[in-house]
Amino acid sequence: MCGIIGYIGPNPAYPVLINGLKRLEYRGYDSAGISILDGTPKVYKCMGKIQDLEDYVSGKDITGSVGIGHTRWATHGEPNDINAHPHTSRDGHFIIIHNGIIENWDLLKKELERNGYSFVSDTDTEVLANLIEHIYLSGDIKAEAAVRLALTKVVGTYGLVVICRNEPDQLIAARCSSPLVIGIGSSEYFIASDASPIAEYTKSVIYLNDNDVAIIKKDELILKTLQVDEPKITLQNLNIETGKYEKDGFDHYMLKEIFEQPRSIADTFRGRLVPDQSDIKLGGLHSVLTQIQNARRIIIVACGTSWHAALIGEYLIEDLCRIPVEVEYASEFRYRDPVLGPEDIVVAISQSGETADTLAAVRLAKEAGALVLGICNVTGSGLSRETHAGVYTHAGIEIGVASTKAFTAQITVLTMIALLLGNKRELITGDKYRSLIGEMHSIPSKIEVLLKQDAKIRSIAAGFKDVCSMLFIGRGYCFPVALEGALKLKEISYIHAEGYPAAEMKHGPIALIDNNMPVVVIGIRDKSYEKIVSNVQEIKARKGIVIAIVSEGDEQIASIADHVIEIPSTNIIFSSLLSVIPLQLLSYHIAVLRECNIDQPRNLAKSVTVE
Ligand code: GLU
Repeated sequence: MCGIIGYIGPNPAYPVLINGLKRLEYRGYDSAGISILDGTPKVYKCMGKIQDLEDYVSGKDITGSVGIGHTRWATHGEPNDINAHPHTSRDGHFIIIHNGIIENWDLLKKELERNGYSFVSDTDTEVLANLIEHIYLSGDIKAEAAVRLALTKVVGTYGLVVICRNEPDQLIAARCSSPLVIGIGSSEYFIASDASPIAEYTKSVIYLNDNDVAIIKKDELILKTLQVDEPKITLQNLNIETGKYEKDGFDHYMLKEIFEQPRSIADTFRGRLVPDQSDIKLGGLHSVLTQIQNARRIIIVACGTSWHAALIGEYLIEDLCRIPVEVEYASEFRYRDPVLGPEDIVVAISQSGETADTLAAVRLAKEAGALVLGICNVTGSGLSRETHAGVYTHAGIEIGVASTKAFTAQITVLTMIALLLGNKRELITGDKYRSLIGEMHSIPSKIEVLLKQDAKIRSIAAGFKDVCSMLFIGRGYCFPVALEGALKLKEISYIHAEGYPAAEMKHGPIALIDNNMPVVVIGIRDKSYEKIVSNVQEIKARKGIVIAIVSEGDEQIASIADHVIEIPSTNIIFSSLLSVIPLQLLSYHIAVLRECNIDQPRNLAKSVTVE
């Protein structure tokens, strides 16, 4: 999951590395390190954040115009100074940074131990560093050949960059399932896990494919594969903005991103939702629209928050298009031999477009012959390259590890797809179609209104900062919102929380209710409204504390709940775009009051690029 950065060129490497690591810190932040080459390589690494690394490096020799940097999310070995990357091979020939997991590290380690190697860290990465060195020293070969040969012996995933002490004028980069992008400047190259640290230097990039190996010198880039020498370079124009990484006066990226949602949702439907022409245009799906329209079933695969968006997608598509939908955790789908064929449509959702399990599910679906569509936020990401067609969310870069605006952007895309398919299947036509498009268009301004309740939500949050557990319940479209509300609270405040379909309360969770148990009820007016009113009564009868998210003007739930947050009226199909906002704010304020690290919650990382 970590962040990787590399630089080779005429300029000092250190500023590129340290600024790049700051941009990539959201990917992992338990320890960090750099290596800079100026004749001899220097390695500086320590436990903690990039700021700790900067403090540690201060005053030390950082000269050199070739270098690599890493911010780690530990998989093998606890976060400490020694396990931090870069890792140096026993005799110092190779220095390496790595994202991913070497699954057969144990076997390789034992073999290396038999050859006299010993290890200083607990990481799988050090095993790879020594394997490369062992191969390098065993024959008269170049560093690049040693890296390629070593990687053929590896089972697992990697994005890595290697420095060889004897060949100091080059970096070697390789990828298998962990993203790597190379930025091409003038007589200089940049390497990174994603394009964000590169964008300010160059717009020309190459996304490495699996099994690619790049040999990068100041004025030459040679791209090979593990097996083949044949060069294969594709330049892409980098369409990402710089200067959008500031907090803009907000205390945290997460809060900024919550408040950005009126804009990010509008950006997601800009040019696509056309109220004047009563139409929806999704260019990315144009060529496959007829096939989707006639689908026998649709399977949506995703992880985490994207999986909650997928559930909302299921409700929308079944409601509006009458096409059966199944929602799957990508990690389960990929390993359970699903029944799949060319008549199936698989939709994969991932904010980063690099989620390891989701990409694996995409590959599996493609092998089975299914049409595979992607919904993601990052241009040029693995998902956008590996799917047959898709739709970008255009939410803008999301830095907060707990996803907010990417979630509502995903729902926005799924809603547009459902409305468009419903229209093509002649289930929503004429005035009804027109009025739904018009209503969707008004959602950003309704969110603006809703965000004005921030101070009220903060004061509600103050009453719950010390609770140990919280339940979130809802029915219909409000059920996935309940799941998302619970996930947000867990992620950033470390309070145990569970989301449930409200009717499931009686099948177990109601036993937890007493006067210490807060229950967040998402009770928007819908066909099952009376049922959820009864659920609130049942909680109150057992002295539970109810925080209710209700439709504007609600009286029934409002009269019995302890705290009430109203959302502006809208058609139920758009309600999740509104009802999730107070839950994001509630989690945020509770976590702030508990003095948690909002943008970098413990143990988490933004893109889950290892399975
Ligand atoms: N497996 C490596 C480690 O534990 C790399 C993890 C990562 O992707 O950050 O150090």
